[in-house]
Amino acid sequence: MVSGPSGAGKDTVIESLRSYEPDLEYCVSVTTRPPRPYERDGIHYHFTTRDNFEKMAAAGEFIETREYAGNLYGTPRRTVEEALARGRDLILKPEVNGARAIKARYPGAVLVFLTPPSTAELERRLARRQADSPEAIEERLRIAREELAALADFDYRVVNDTLAGAVSDLRAILTAERLKVARLAGRMGLRHDTGNPV
Ligand code: 5GP
Repeated sequence: MVSGPSGAGKDTVIESLRSYEPDLEYCVSVTTRPPRPYERDGIHYHFTTRDNFEKMAAAGEFIETREYAGNLYGTPRRTVEEALARGRDLILKPEVNGARAIKARYPGAVLVFLTPPSTAELERRLARRQADSPEAIEERLRIAREELAALADFDYRVVNDTLAGAVSDLRAILTAERLKVARLAGRMGLRHDTGNPV
């Protein structure tokens, strides 16, 4: 799963990653948000009404759902389970709380925290400290605390400084995870419980 604060560049990074990794499947979420001009139903999201979303949720069709900025988002259970049954790697991009919920349900899922480069800059500034007003420092500390609290639940952090760098880091993570003995054993049929969303 690639998660992280809004504006970190998840969509762009995932799109580029998928162009290098054609075997990687993408989990298309369901949302009640109206489509943006460039978005296509079934590709970017499955767009639906709130009424229908709630019916799907009541029928247990989601692994997790979230309300975000007034719209509902849900990870479809069937997409995840079918990918796992076929032994495929699946990429998801839930916001941070959704990522935590999925990890709780699938402990072997790999969580990547994607941060915008300004977070790295923030960290550098926090380390220097003396340059800012007490209010500015407090605000930065508040954001950093929130982010760091979320980070503790993640397996990797990737800074989206350049697109090429972030994609290269994600590919390295993918390679490392695919080489893990437990996962290899799963793929070789020695264990049957190791398939997990990426
Ligand atoms: P956007 O409206 O910008 O496409 O998405 C808003 C936020 O919801 C983003 O952080 C996005 O990653 C997240 N999101 C997209 N689909 C899901 C989902 O199925 N579950 C959760 N929890 N978050 C999602």
